Amino acid sequence: MASRVIPVAPFDLVIFGATGDLARRKILPGLFRRFCDGQMPGEARIIGAARSELDADGFRALVRAALREHLPAPRRPARKLAAFLERVSYCQLDARGAKGWKALKGLIREDVVQAFYFSVGPSLFGDLARRLKQHDIAGPEARIVVEKPFGHDLESARALNATLAAHFEERFIYRIDHYLGKETVQNLMALRFGNMLFEPLWNAQYVDHVQITVAESVGVAGRGAYYDRAGAMRDMVQNHLMQLLCLTAMEPPSKFDPDAVRDEKLKVIRALDPVAPGDIVRGQYEGAEGVPSYREDVGNPESTTESFIALRLEISNWRWNGTPFYLRTGKRLRARMSEIVIQFKEPPHSIFDSPPGQGANELSIRLQPDEGMDLKVTIKEPGPGGMRLIDVPLDMTFAEALGAEAAEAPDAYERLIMDVIRGDQTLFMRGDEVEAAWAWTDPVIAGWEARGDRPLPYEPGSTGPEDAAILLHRDARRWRELKA
Ligand code: NAP
Repeated sequence: MASRVIPVAPFDLVIFGATGDLARRKILPGLFRRFCDGQMPGEARIIGAARSELDADGFRALVRAALREHLPAPRRPARKLAAFLERVSYCQLDARGAKGWKALKGLIREDVVQAFYFSVGPSLFGDLARRLKQHDIAGPEARIVVEKPFGHDLESARALNATLAAHFEERFIYRIDHYLGKETVQNLMALRFGNMLFEPLWNAQYVDHVQITVAESVGVAGRGAYYDRAGAMRDMVQNHLMQLLCLTAMEPPSKFDPDAVRDEKLKVIRALDPVAPGDIVRGQYEGAEGVPSYREDVGNPESTTESFIALRLEISNWRWNGTPFYLRTGKRLRARMSEIVIQFKEPPHSIFDSPPGQGANELSIRLQPDEGMDLKVTIKEPGPGGMRLIDVPLDMTFAEALGAEAAEAPDAYERLIMDVIRGDQTLFMRGDEVEAAWAWTDPVIAGWEARGDRPLPYEPGSTGPEDAAILLHRDARRWRELKA
């Protein structure tokens, strides 16, 4: 199957924070892959910007080293690399000072798409937005790309949105949630709204419950100071899991258009019920032989921040009334695995002598490690042994079904950056969505703080605290196995 790569319009992309971790690990390798695939037109330019004292050659050396570190050798052919580096330049500047802005203005063209990626801490977003306009660098159609965290709570998210809105219209603000750039997440929309098969069953009448898991096997070392102030609820649930929940639960938008999709997601967040204290399980990983504990990782022996959280949610609307959505996410768990599972109900009456649970179809949508979907269906066991039923998966692992093309699919960052250049905001969070998600999150956090709840310890390499399993056992259900 031939891959269709449509080049984007000529652009100038400025990466503020170009010497930082995110730029080196994700943004620059992603841009290089798009370049190799022929998606970057000849006139496209990338301008790194940061305070580090570098000239263009020094920055090119940094880019070369980043690509070497984060892309396997066959993915960085020398000729392509040399051609890519010709597109790259650098501007030394300070977001908080006057230095460098005039030089940046001299590097930016007015007749191409202008995009400014704020790959810096959120405390600099306001300075960057203001100076871009103040120095007349950003034209009327210029886009800015901002990274999470979008605030720490509703108040700070509102302040951040107001700061950006003072300089850029909402239609030019791209809030990245890389989960939305994943192939499978977009496939969830294709599956639901591009087929007849699932949508009629996608409701409380036929769905028993939904599980959303984002499990990580690593700890928080390296970003301990940030994480200890955030915790799993702020770092993962308020944004990534909430976005997955929205795409799973939303009504069909009238068209595949940024505001139509985001309006429907917003309605889901607004329909979420408050969470009862008994429907929340928070955990914190302990240490083990050779494995530091959470408290050691963050350097805070008294920390009561959660590195794991499981929640039981309900959505108060016609489609989902009474259907629980179970969410869990955590660090240092048994496996790195992210998935959404739609557990359908059993047939209302079994004509076969089958055990309980048989015939309850299960659709799982895997985000990582290997993106794909599978649907558990019940069939007759082949052979002459009578009418015995078995469950088999209808597997649709993309790499197997679609061959090399799927294995080579752009990663989430690449896809999203190209969407920014195209001017397509469908897979980016709108300001009101972010605020609605905080408006739901804040009382949950305030509740456990007021009660003085402490996170439950769990063993590294486990599935989290035992109470997370009990959360489902109580409802006569269980979590899907955590396996890579
Ligand atoms: P980082 O490694 O600390 O890099 C920060 C960058 O900002 C550096 O290039 C630094 O370069 C530059 N910088 C700092 N102060 C500046 C100033 N006053 N003026 C101009 N540039 C300045 O951070 P990061 O991990 O790349 O994260 C960047 C953003 O992405 C943060 O908002 C973070 O929360 C978010 N994010 C990161 C990840 C990730 O995986 N890393 C994931 C999700 C979200 P100089 O010191 O040379 O100025």
